[in-house]
Order: sequence, then structure tokens, then C-alpha cells
Amino acid sequence: MSNITTEQMRFWSPEVRELEPYVPGEQPKIQNLLKLNTNENPYPPSPKVVEAVQAVLVNSADVLRLYPDPDASALKQAIAKQQNVVVENVFVGNGSDEVLAHIFKAFFVQELPVLYPDITYSFYPVYSQFFGVKTKILPLNDDFEIVVDDYKQANGGIIITNPNAPTSIDIGLAAIEEVLQANPNSVVVIDEAYVDFGAESAVSLVEKYENLVVCQTTSKSRSLAGLRVGFAIAQPHLIAALETVKNSFNSYPMDRFAIAAAVASFEDQAYFEAQNQKVIQSREHLVEQLTALGFNVLPSSANFIFASLPSKDAGELAAELREQGIIVRYFNKPRINQFLRITVGTDEQNQRLVDTLKNDILK
Ligand SMILES: *Cc1c(COP(=O)(O)O)cnc(C)c1O
Repeated sequence: MSNITTEQMRFWSPEVRELEPYVPGEQPKIQNLLKLNTNENPYPPSPKVVEAVQAVLVNSADVLRLYPDPDASALKQAIAKQQNVVVENVFVGNGSDEVLAHIFKAFFVQELPVLYPDITYSFYPVYSQFFGVKTKILPLNDDFEIVVDDYKQANGGIIITNPNAPTSIDIGLAAIEEVLQANPNSVVVIDEAYVDFGAESAVSLVEKYENLVVCQTTSKSRSLAGLRVGFAIAQPHLIAALETVKNSFNSYPMDRFAIAAAVASFEDQAYFEAQNQKVIQSREHLVEQLTALGFNVLPSSANFIFASLPSKDAGELAAELREQGIIVRYFNKPRINQFLRITVGTDEQNQRLVDTLKNDILK
């Protein structure tokens, strides 16, 4: 906490003095920067999204003085249609980070610990501390895979990212069903931030399992990280808990721009599918090229890859790429401090990365 003195800190709530907040990937303002560090989509959102924002803008003199729909029902309907569920199965929030925060508050503040892997989304420990959630961290195996049998012990809830971040590895629905069946009295949350890039969604299991919550976002596969729209799909008795938390915190998390733009995105399924296919193809090509340069790349079902180079320290490699104007994510943490998490860009962007590695760094 840079230049706040202990004396000034006396004004802070004691528990806030102890918080260790999440550190997002940086958004630096460097010219000719290639940003491959926060898993943003390299393509623009659907043109229909831009039209929808413009339509709100045109009416802004009339509508911005009015509160938005507290229930964001137009958005819930668009999501329900696209996900093939009913509107009673849908919860929406200001980015899936907010949806996840409400999930931790609504389900995980229990006597028993919540289970999640040692290597996963680094917001989970932050929310756990924030809400006083007890946790039990379960190591992934040496191939960075989930050990399903570990999730058959007493717990106060389970959260699994699928595909996992930052490893990019996915688990199939059979493994998820095994976890759901072994835990009939706990909520099992599947965070599917990257599911549209090649994994199978657990939304199809929501009707069958009363303990399942699936969380998704528009930030990655819909190119809307700047809009802040995330959602959860679950049976109505779980959605009701999330609505209770949301309405005890902020009744209007979705503004008029966010609702209109996200609706337009969910209505343009063709654009969404075509764009994801492009990212998947670019990913496969990037993996081939990096493998040829000597990288070990974990099998990815996401819009990023997790790669290590045996001949070079990952922290040094990240620093040298940065000097060339290319930013990737490096986690200086046990087990993964020799890996780089690299967001898949356009083919041109990926080529710049490969050429820089080949011609400037590994020459
Ligand atoms: C990006 C990400 C999120 C958060 O997405 P937002 O909707 O932008 O808040 C949640 N979970 C995981 C695993 C992510 O990578």
C-alpha cells in the first residue's frame, strides 16, 4: 500500500487493513504495444452491439436521467434464449467478477471449507478473504489436471474454472457430473469464462442438478471486456439467493448501455460463432509455431495458451518481450513460475510475437 502511513490507516476498518486485493493485468499506455496479457478478444464486438450503443446514445437526453431496469429483464431474456434455458435460470451482474463475488457471499460462507485447485483464477482467494470463506486448496496433478477424487470430501462448496486459468486445460462434463453427484449438499460452481473457445458447457446439466451454478462472461468470447457483463445459470432456488445478495448490495448493477449492448451481442449468434472459430484457428497455428521454437505448450481450450521454454527463465523472457513492446502475463508463483500465459491475438499479432522471439530474443 504505497504511501499510506500506519497512522492514516487508523481510519480504515480493521478488516480492510488486512485485505490483499486482486491485481489485474496491467493496461499500460505504450505506443505500438501488443497486449497479450489479459485475455481480451482481438476482434471487435458484433456491429449490432455498436448500433445498440448508438441507439441508447441518441436517446440519452431522455433516458439517462432514469434508472435502468433493476432486473435487466431484456438481457436475461436474451441470455436465456441463447443458452436454451428459461429466464428464471438467469442471473446477471457487472462482469462475472461481480457475479462470482455474489456467489461467494450467497453460498460459500459456511462452517466447512470451500474446495478449489492450487492453480486457478486468483480472484477466488481474494473473495474468500473478503467474505471470510474458509478454503481448502487441492493441488492439481503434475500435468496440471484436476484430481476428481479430491472433490469427494466434506466441504462447504466447490468452485472449478473450466477451462482452467491460467493453465487453459479443460475437463469434460463426465468429470463435472462426478463432482456434482458426490456433493449433493454443496453448491458446485463452474466458472466458464473461456468455455466458448472449445470446452463443453455445463449449462446443459443445470436442469438435472439442483446444486450446480454455471458462471460465464461477455468479456472474452463476446469482445465486451469494457462493458462489464457477466451471468450465472442455475435452478431458481439458487438464482433467488444471488438476487437476495445483489439487492442487498446494488439494485442497478447493469446500466442502460450495458443492457442494450449485451442484448445485441446475444442476438448475433452467427458473428459470435465465426469470431470464436477464428480465435481457435489462430490458437492452433500459434501453438504449432511456438512448439517449433522449443516451447512446451499445455493443451488449450481457451483464448490463451500456457507455455514454458526449457532453455530460458520465464520471468526473463517476459521482461525481454516487454522491451520489444509485447506484454504477456507472468505469475511469479510456485509451480507456474516457469510459464507464460499468452493471449491468442489475431494471426498478424501472433506472428509479431513469434518473429520477435525468433529474430530478437532466441537468436
Ligand atoms: C476474466 C475472468 C473472469 C472475469 O470476467 P469479467 O466478466 O470480465 O469480470 C472470471 N473468471 C475467470 C476465470 C476469468 O478469467
